[in-house]
Amino acid sequence: SRAQAMEVTQRPSVTYEDIGGLNEEILEVRETVEEPLLDPDQFDAVGIDPPSGVLLHGPPGTGKTMLAKAVANQTEATFIKMAGSELVQKFIGEGARLVRDLFELAAEREPAVLFIDEIDAIAAKRTDSKTSGDAEVQRTMMQLLSEMDGFDDRGEISIIAATNRFDMLDRAILRPGRFDRLIEVPKPDQEGRKRIIEIHASEMDLSDDIEYDELATMTEGFSGAQLSSLVTEAGMFAVRDERTTVRAEDFEAAYDKLDDEEDTTVRTAT
Ligand code: ATP
Repeated sequence: SRAQAMEVTQRPSVTYEDIGGLNEEILEVRETVEEPLLDPDQFDAVGIDPPSGVLLHGPPGTGKTMLAKAVANQTEATFIKMAGSELVQKFIGEGARLVRDLFELAAEREPAVLFIDEIDAIAAKRTDSKTSGDAEVQRTMMQLLSEMDGFDDRGEISIIAATNRFDMLDRAILRPGRFDRLIEVPKPDQEGRKRIIEIHASEMDLSDDIEYDELATMTEGFSGAQLSSLVTEAGMFAVRDERTTVRAEDFEAAYDKLDDEEDTTVRTAT
């Protein structure tokens, strides 16, 4: 059924503390999404409109979905997720209907955070003939914009979209009243990587030879998702060796393994 294409979670368990290295971005999300959900009257009283939609953009695996889930956790809201690609590919000819269903569901379940991942799949520039030439894709996007336009009194529903391909977006969706607040979610810096490794290794029994600073230096260029894989892989090496303590050598082996996989991916892609 169409409903199965949506991921619906009543108050997800992800919190801001689970997110490493995005302090500024967390503050921005709290101000633009959390505040209007918790205290809409405050915006009324000041005489400004809260952002209609917030767009998170940045490389894959940097924590965009986590940010949206953490807002829903903090506001005790229902988290409703749908990928742009699913809107147009999964149920051919039903994209616009699905968008309507999404907003209906959000209204039933408010407070709700409506998260549309891969928004580029329905909102690419018209020059990209492969996707946006498709009338179905256009209709789906028009429906989304019209749902947002007709949403002055939207109550306790927040709309967050995400993309890894900001450059491809049709600028029309960034106009006032649409996704009028942009938050860039970058790959983590040294401090961020250290924090993300700490978060993911927090349940591990680590040997004394582990230096977080060194791990952070070694993993320059890694995304949060890649750092999470690194920690899991390191744990796997300890398991294979029938140890419960994870050592620096496990992290090194994990690093080499991920590095090899990365090379393979690049080779197959070209
Ligand atoms: P995509 O663009 O591929 O959808 P995303 O930016 O939405 O990615 P998430 O789904 O939030 O990325 O992250 C994927 C996983 O990577 C998370 O479940 C988490 O384990 C880890 N991760 C990513 N970023 C962070 C971070 N900043 N702090 C802690 N963990 C992170």
